Amino acid sequence: MSEGLVTVSYIAATILFILSLGGLSNPETARRGNFYGMAAMALAILATVLGPQVETLWPVVTAMAIGGSIGLYAAFKVQMTEMPELVALMHSLVGLAAVLIGFATYADNSVHLAGIEKTIHEIEIYVGILIGAITFSGSVIAFGKLSGRIGGKPWLLPGRHLLNLVGLIAVIVVGKLFLNVDSGVSGAFFLLIMTGVALAFGIHMVMAIGGADMPVVVSMLNSYSGWAASATGFMLGNDLLIVIGALVGSSGAILSYIMCRAMNRHFFAVIAGGFGTAGGTTVSSAGPQGEVQAITAEETAELLRGASKVILVPGYGMAVAQAQHTVFEITKLLRERNIDVHFAIHPVAGRMPGHMNVLLAEAKVPYDIVAEMDEINHDFPQTDVAMVIGANDIVNPAAQDDPGSPIAGMPVLEVWKARISIVMKRSMASGYAGVDNPLFYKENNRMLFGDAKQMLEAVLTALRAN
Ligand code: NDP
Repeated sequence: MSEGLVTVSYIAATILFILSLGGLSNPETARRGNFYGMAAMALAILATVLGPQVETLWPVVTAMAIGGSIGLYAAFKVQMTEMPELVALMHSLVGLAAVLIGFATYADNSVHLAGIEKTIHEIEIYVGILIGAITFSGSVIAFGKLSGRIGGKPWLLPGRHLLNLVGLIAVIVVGKLFLNVDSGVSGAFFLLIMTGVALAFGIHMVMAIGGADMPVVVSMLNSYSGWAASATGFMLGNDLLIVIGALVGSSGAILSYIMCRAMNRHFFAVIAGGFGTAGGTTVSSAGPQGEVQAITAEETAELLRGASKVILVPGYGMAVAQAQHTVFEITKLLRERNIDVHFAIHPVAGRMPGHMNVLLAEAKVPYDIVAEMDEINHDFPQTDVAMVIGANDIVNPAAQDDPGSPIAGMPVLEVWKARISIVMKRSMASGYAGVDNPLFYKENNRMLFGDAKQMLEAVLTALRAN
């Protein structure tokens, strides 16, 4: 493939990637957006592999076959609930690739540059490895936290902000030394030192984050992976990689901003770590506050039948139980009986941005009855039944009432303002943030204990019976 054809393909791929991002911004066009993304990626890979830069095809094809098979296997095997971990793992691979390509580019002695060109090339390598290493180690820790292999409790070292500052100064000083050396061996030595510092920083940054702040970290690492890809593009002189990396990096940064707003946090406060952790503890001091009132599936069906307005609040437990299809069956039945039913989606419900929207779309819930938190929160006082399906932190009134709570200040869905709220979960266990939930003890709250899918099927049976 000629250089000109590669350039044209890259431009076409860039346009398709932009259309893809545009499509993904709305559930109704998301399928089309995904299609554009797949087409763009296929075009980008073909143009790169068949382009003039690849002289020997077999190593590239072999690597693609191995990587592609692993990816295909993982995509078929992974459960929907494991998706966030998989995404974190993918981010870590982008970071690792940037580090390896950085070292390979530095070791490549076929490139002979001098003066300012050499300096720019070395800065590209240094920054590429730096971002890549932070993305890699941070994403591995995020993977551990999201999959439960590492506890959600923040790991707060004494003087942690000072440690971060020392790390930053070390990176700048080592960078200056790196740019001043002539020998490749000393340069590699400085690169290794910086890589070590960056890996430690990535680990420290994510370990210090409290459970409730993880959504910001996930979207931030998404952004970093984009910048790492962009840096790789600079090192390899690949314009497409630079542009696409910048698209991912900036859209991830916007997502981080949206997540921060959703949680009422300042971005820098989150990445500096340890905020929202109430001085290092993750458990609210309040403890259990009285009796909870349990109800049965039949009683739940009775309450729903008598309601004229119902709001359903899905959370992570709905994803675990894969209860979205049963929820929709119930919704259809209630709507046939002229009951007004809406879904309320909290921006950080579940374990990844848009988690609940994906599940509801999969169950074919119409988009017009799915409302974002800001659109629906003021409707709870006029609601007869608010049914919480496997959600916990996103409906925790302590966020508003307890300034010492680790989730203080985070906007929540105010289900307790409905005439009756029903919380469906298996036990009294806390949610991801590890905080007690006073909602369970409120006088107008009922607990429907059990697996969300089983309980909803029992409610559906009871509703159908009458
Ligand atoms: P939570 O983790 O707060 O609560 C989920 C609840 O679901 C648990 O308390 C659990 O209780 C219940 N549950 C689990 N399995 C089942 C089941 N099979 N049937 C019924 N219930 C079940 O989830 P939320 O969605 O309310 O809040 C999301 C949390 O995750 C927030 O703290 C957010 O910050 C964090 N987070 C979000 C990310 C995002 O991007 N959206 C990323 C990372 C973290 P029990 O065990 O008693 O059943």
